[in-house]
Amino acid sequence: MTRTTRRGVLAAGAAALGLAATPASAAAPGRFARRTVLVTGATSGIGRATAAAFAAEGARVMFCGRRAALGAEVEREIRASGGEAVFHRADVRDESDVRGLVDACVRRYGRIDVAVNNAGIETPRAAPLHEQSAADFDRVWHTNARGVFLSMKYELPHMLRQRGGVIVNTASISAEVGFATIAPYNASKHAVASLTKVAALEYADENIRVNALAPGAVDTPMLRRAAEAFGMTYEQIAAEYPIKRIVRPDEIARVILWLASADASAVVGTDVDASGGYLTA
Ligand code: NAD
Repeated sequence: MTRTTRRGVLAAGAAALGLAATPASAAAPGRFARRTVLVTGATSGIGRATAAAFAAEGARVMFCGRRAALGAEVEREIRASGGEAVFHRADVRDESDVRGLVDACVRRYGRIDVAVNNAGIETPRAAPLHEQSAADFDRVWHTNARGVFLSMKYELPHMLRQRGGVIVNTASISAEVGFATIAPYNASKHAVASLTKVAALEYADENIRVNALAPGAVDTPMLRRAAEAFGMTYEQIAAEYPIKRIVRPDEIARVILWLASADASAVVGTDVDASGGYLTA
């Protein structure tokens, strides 16, 4: 194989992985060097760990949340570790906010190589369906399901234009099985898995890979709130998982980075089980 031919093959391989437009050099400091990554809901928990992990691997990260002070703190933290990140305040329930976030990312960095649609909230009150309020259903649905729909709706045209990209949606084990007392959350996460499958099929031949992941119990502010709502201790929650522990946000971030990386090039339209065995038991 001549040098030119080998380069051609490498370029074709990179294109097939959704990484074509900005090839990494041999001296690139990380897997995501010169890649632009958008993360929603990154002012705490899984999103925060994910934004930091992408930045640590060389990505330029734009991330959103609703709390500006916390966003500025996360941005400072990432920059202090030598990473590149910008906070943009946006509420994923609001269509113009989502459009503004995506536009701001493209204005600043020129493209979106990876989008992690992660913003989510829990069902505020553990109760059987007939005791859940329509207002709580709407709040959870608008954030978790509509938020992911809107995010993909505005990210995909840029990925189509740039002829490639990767989307990772944060679903949950709640997308795969039913959980009593959290109907709004359970329904919204099933919707995330559904939107993921539909988008994966619609854009697979456009060099855009779409997947979701299904964490179980992860040590974040959301889990602490949920534990309180359920009246459960961390020990009791951990006991329900084959690994008998609660997963750390950075462990989930590593799954997201893997899904976004070229190593997951054959993975399309799935909801990757990152629950520590919950869905296997
Ligand atoms: P978290 O509460 O720590 O973080 C959620 C993030 O989303 C925060 O930054 C919050 O500000 C942001 N957010 C919430 N509503 C928003 C909105 N309308 N617009 C913009 N940002 C918004 O929770 P987490 O545990 O890190 O959750 C992250 C994702 O992981 C969620 O989708 C959640 O459903 C999912 N998940 C969490 C667990 C767990 O055990 N923690 C398990 C499975 C799935």
